[in-house]
Amino acid sequence: MIQSRKTSDYAICTIGSHSALQILKGAKDEDFKTICVCFKGKTQPYLSYKVADEIIEIDTIEEFFKVEKILMQKNAIVIPHGSFVSYLGHERVKKIKMMHYGSKEILEYESDRTKERQWLTKAGLLMPKVFTHPEDIDRPVIVKFHGAKGGLGYFVAKSPDEFYEKMKKFPEHEEDKDYAIQEYILGVPVYIHYFHSKLNNELEIMSFDKRYESNADSIGRIAAKDQLTADINASYTIIGNIPIVVRESLLPDLFKMGENVVKESKKIVNGGLFGPFCLETIIKKDLRIFTFEISARIVAGTNPFIEGSPYTWLRYNEPMSTGRRIAREIKEAIEGGKLEKVLG
Ligand code: AMP
Repeated sequence: MIQSRKTSDYAICTIGSHSALQILKGAKDEDFKTICVCFKGKTQPYLSYKVADEIIEIDTIEEFFKVEKILMQKNAIVIPHGSFVSYLGHERVKKIKMMHYGSKEILEYESDRTKERQWLTKAGLLMPKVFTHPEDIDRPVIVKFHGAKGGLGYFVAKSPDEFYEKMKKFPEHEEDKDYAIQEYILGVPVYIHYFHSKLNNELEIMSFDKRYESNADSIGRIAAKDQLTADINASYTIIGNIPIVVRESLLPDLFKMGENVVKESKKIVNGGLFGPFCLETIIKKDLRIFTFEISARIVAGTNPFIEGSPYTWLRYNEPMSTGRRIAREIKEAIEGGKLEKVLG
């Protein structure tokens, strides 16, 4: 690893998808060179929005490990995002030799529902009840398939009979038992975007979003009787993200939740969780906050805030996206001779 304390001696790179526009734009704003590793045929956004100084095209994800050597020669630091982690899988992320921002170890916890649950409950978060046996279903549940792309195919059931009936449409999942049955929490979804700085050991809330999901977000557009006629089953395929600002009195609790998650992470992996992460929650009418998932890296819900969010504006007085916040952290680490501290 080079020892230079000049940002311009380094590049920031990621794979062209998910939140790459924001990551690369933020890196440019902080004076880094930027490289986008892109699948052939997917380069247009990165060219059109001029966020990449260089584009390296690949045919398959396996080729990432071939271009890694070139990236290393350019002193590139890779920023993992949702698609990056899902394309490579956490096992292969561990094999990355180039400079990697953030903890690799923690990605294993976010991809294993049991480990994730232990971590978050130890951090004191409320979570939906999990049903291990379909026979025990005694309330509305949401059935999630592992590795489902963006919530496609999830379904809701309220009894063992309904579960088995609906499961018939997914014989492949039934056989592998690769599903999770979670209590369905009635409330509004709120995705909390945190950033924990390893350099000053402080937790920030960057922004919030809710997801725009097909067809869950369109069912309400037709009358209940027509929904029954059309025999609609809700699905949760993510299409985009919508910014939200939360009731201010919730903020103290939301900060506490993030801090507890970071604190607990230090007990499970070396160095703990740092950088951007997201708690995916449903808030009920009695204001109880249920967390159903954690993403231990930047989430696409931060994309509406390339110019910053109301919250980052309060703190920074300049446009500060999560992508730029990452770049700033790396820049400060480089200039302070502490780059190793933010790599994992
Ligand atoms: P996930 O793939 O876990 O992010 O879930 C996809 C979507 O399903 C979320 O954005 C929520 O709208 C919904 N969802 C997930 N888990 C629950 C739950 N336990 N209760 C109610 N809705 C949920």
